[in-house]
Formats: sequence, structure tokens, C-alpha cells
Amino acid sequence: MNKMRISQVTLAAVLGLMGYILVNAATAAEKKPARPAITKINRSEAEWKKILTADEFYVLRQQGTERPFTGRYHDHHEKGTYVCAACKLPLFSSSTKFDSGTGWPSFFAPIDAKHVEELVDNSHGMRRVEVRCARCGGHLGHVFDDGPKPTGLRYCINSVSLKFEGKSVR
Ligand code: FE
Repeated sequence: MNKMRISQVTLAAVLGLMGYILVNAATAAEKKPARPAITKINRSEAEWKKILTADEFYVLRQQGTERPFTGRYHDHHEKGTYVCAACKLPLFSSSTKFDSGTGWPSFFAPIDAKHVEELVDNSHGMRRVEVRCARCGGHLGHVFDDGPKPTGLRYCINSVSLKFEGKSVR
């Protein structure tokens, strides 16, 4: 009799625990972001060389920098979205663009934090933070902490890395 009671209690405890696990699993699923994570594009440098122009390959794949005031977007003021020149991922909105006077298109924020990757870059005797496209890994430019409000950041981006699309992608 006593054994029967113990097994009933054990069963109730197991059922209770299972219920708890199920409820928590459902809550965890709801907390997942609505949009899936970025799926990376992995192409060989030889493939990129075929796809990109010489200037695009130099900047996007070899961390090159266009000469200031020579790019197509440093003095560009239309409303729209700047996408990655290599993979077309939306990167920056005209609503965050500002005139930095540097000769490179400048933004105070990316269109989505998940669309860019930031890496410490110690090249050329400087400690800078490199900005890359989160999907194709293409080099975009650097981010500095001397930008305007509201973020105080200055994403200094090569025009060559971007393609402007007149109507908002989002
Ligand atoms: Fe890209």
C-alpha cells in the first residue's frame, strides 16, 4: 500500500516536471527573434574576382580604401537604402547618413546591427574597428566613436562597397 502511494507521488512529480519543461520550452521558442540569423555567403577569392569589378575586389576583398571625395556617395543625399555592392544585403539607410566632411559616406548607425560585423583592425600602425558585411564578409570601412547623436558613432564607409537603392528595402 505504502509502495503504491510512493509511486503515485513519483508519477505526479514526473508529470509536473514534464509540464514545467514543456512550458519553458514554449516560452524559449517565443523569445527567438522573428527573423532568422544571416546565412553567410562563402565564395573563394577567385569567384569574387570574377563577380566584382577591380575596384570592388580591391576594397571589399582586399581591405582597400577608395581615395576620399572620389566615391559616388560621399555627397549623395537621396532617400533610400544602401546595400552591399557584393551581396545586396541592406546595410545603411539614408536616414542615418550625415555629412562628416571626410570625403567618405558616413552613417551614425547600420540599418540592422546584425547586418554588419565589427572586428579590431591593427593594420597601418593604428587600432581601428573594421566594419564588414555580415553576409558576404566584404570589407566596408571602419567605425569611429566621434560621430553625431544619437549613437556617437561614425561608420566611415567606402562608396565602392555600397549600391544605392532609391526606395527603402525594409
Ligand atoms: Fe555583402
